[in-house]
Amino acid sequence: MVSELLDNGDGNDHPGPQCPYCDDAYPGTPTKHLQDLRATLDAHSRPCPIPGHPQRRSVNPVTLATSHCAHHRLEHDVIPLTRKQGWPLSIQFDLLHARILDFMESFLTSSMIPGPRCSLGHC
Ligand SMILES: [Zn+2]
Repeated sequence: MVSELLDNGDGNDHPGPQCPYCDDAYPGTPTKHLQDLRATLDAHSRPCPIPGHPQRRSVNPVTLATSHCAHHRLEHDVIPLTRKQGWPLSIQFDLLHARILDFMESFLTSSMIPGPRCSLGHC
């Protein structure tokens, strides 16, 4: 029912580019890595256009597209969400040790780990 509401008649239920292999939304500006995955996949596939999606392609076995499609979902869905939520996109390994120690200290002093008396039902 939701898909019927989103269907705009051209076979594309989202605005913007579609993946030629899974029909999901595709990043408008794919990274070089995604472009390389796509080029490799394109070399092992054939055109399979359908109404509303003339760029659609078919690959056999379909599992060859798994890595490519997982990566475009990462670029289209996950990375924009993490940016919106303020998550860093690169790991600062030089600060990692101190952050883990801070986390362990706050975790061990929290009420999530009760003392031995609580485990015996005395608190
Ligand atoms: Zn895809």
